[in-house]
Amino acid sequence: MLKIVKKHSESNNNINKGFLESARVCPSPNHDDRPDSDDISLIVIHNISLPPNQFGGEGIDQLFTNTLNKDEHPFYEEIDHLRVSSHLLIRRDGEVVQYVPFEKRAWHAGESSYLGRSVCNDFSIGIEMEGTDFEPFTDIQYQVLETTIHSLLERYPTLSKQNITGHEHIAPGRKTDPGPYFKWEKLAKSLDTKLPADACNESNEVNKDD
Ligand SMILES: [Zn+2]
Repeated sequence: MLKIVKKHSESNNNINKGFLESARVCPSPNHDDRPDSDDISLIVIHNISLPPNQFGGEGIDQLFTNTLNKDEHPFYEEIDHLRVSSHLLIRRDGEVVQYVPFEKRAWHAGESSYLGRSVCNDFSIGIEMEGTDFEPFTDIQYQVLETTIHSLLERYPTLSKQNITGHEHIAPGRKTDPGPYFKWEKLAKSLDTKLPADACNESNEVNKDD
């Protein structure tokens, strides 16, 4: 069972809140304060693989910690300038890696909009599924994702199971993840709701040029 704990650092006065107990912590410098740390109201699902379409390597940890080895793959040259992160990564074997505490703002969504609100990083938790747009995710990934979401819903009452959507939905035309192989109906069924949440409404249309 995944539990969220508040980690207290003895060495200084920082209270590093909001880690999953079961996660391997790999701290990313790519985060900052949320405008309102009490407003955590959306879960955004992504996919990522580094090098592209390869699983199990160190590339994702390296990207999120600004330590990509550019000699390792030609694609790394293209993305080395990025300063990005996510709260969580669920690997193909079910391992959970946490890069940013939930109370902090991870840099996963970029230009985005959910129900008329832009800058989804401000109020969302980003969960990366190790994978691609071109092949199925693993069963254990779905199991871990479901357990993780249950833990998050319990810990953060401002979250709700209805407000779970994909990067492709909050950044349509710009992003395609988690992609066509992500089984929304499977996740929705386990949570007894309808997913993905529709990210658009009329005010969204009005604010298109954000
Ligand atoms: Zn994404």
